Amino acid sequence: MKPEILLSRIRVVLCRPSHPGNIGAAARAMKTMGLSRLTLVNPKLFPDPEADTRATGAVDLLNAAKIFTSLNEALAGTVFAIGLSARQRDLGPAPGAPRQMVSALLSAAEEGDVALVFGNETVGLSNDELQLCHAAVSIPTNPDFSSLNLGSAVQVLCYEARMAAYAERPPSPESVTTPFVSPTATHDEVEGFYAHLETVMTATGFYNPEQPGRLLPKLRRLFGRARLERDEVNILRGVLAATQNKTGHGSKC
Ligand code: SAH
Repeated sequence: MKPEILLSRIRVVLCRPSHPGNIGAAARAMKTMGLSRLTLVNPKLFPDPEADTRATGAVDLLNAAKIFTSLNEALAGTVFAIGLSARQRDLGPAPGAPRQMVSALLSAAEEGDVALVFGNETVGLSNDELQLCHAAVSIPTNPDFSSLNLGSAVQVLCYEARMAAYAERPPSPESVTTPFVSPTATHDEVEGFYAHLETVMTATGFYNPEQPGRLLPKLRRLFGRARLERDEVNILRGVLAATQNKTGHGSKC
């Protein structure tokens, strides 16, 4: 697939940005590297003249930005999402280095839309937001001063994406024809499965929402690593539905 098309499939998602100037800086960072899909989740102030000023010639990306009220909605239809975090979390998705993960992101972009997800300037990404991503990336930094400006973090990842898109890349394992392969499940299909799983685990008593522990994040990490295909999601949901029928817990999910 052409590099320009791969880059056009990357959504840059800014979660709860506080400073409109950073939104403008992100748009400029994206456009210089050939990305265009700016996506905002609950921006504090947008549109705003400060965003336009900092975007300079990338105001077209601001005008075309998509705005959502939750990260879940912003990721609808994507097949792979990477969360950017300056801090390593003990319970997040599988962590990796920017170059390695951007390569995985571009392989996934052969199949559909993908996302780079950035956090708020003060508090970063919440654990819940990171849980919606398949992978986590920290940009290597001075350990004593690890937090980049939001626009700068966007620039680093967009640069890596451009380098990877224009480099010769071996065919991804997914794109090599193997029997029984179905398309990668989208974010919303996988979230539907998680909701179904939680319902059945709760109904059968395996999971107690009053004492959640680490069960749900661990299951998310397991299935996130597996990069579920659509057929596989359907099989798993079939197993859950059959369990519900057999145990009389209903099939309302
Ligand atoms: N104080 C926040 C940092 C916010 S910076 C924290 O501790 O998480 C705003 C956003 O830029 C972050 O949420 C992250 O998405 C990105 N960012 C900044 N520095 C980064 C780094 N070293 N590695 C990965 N992402 C980084």
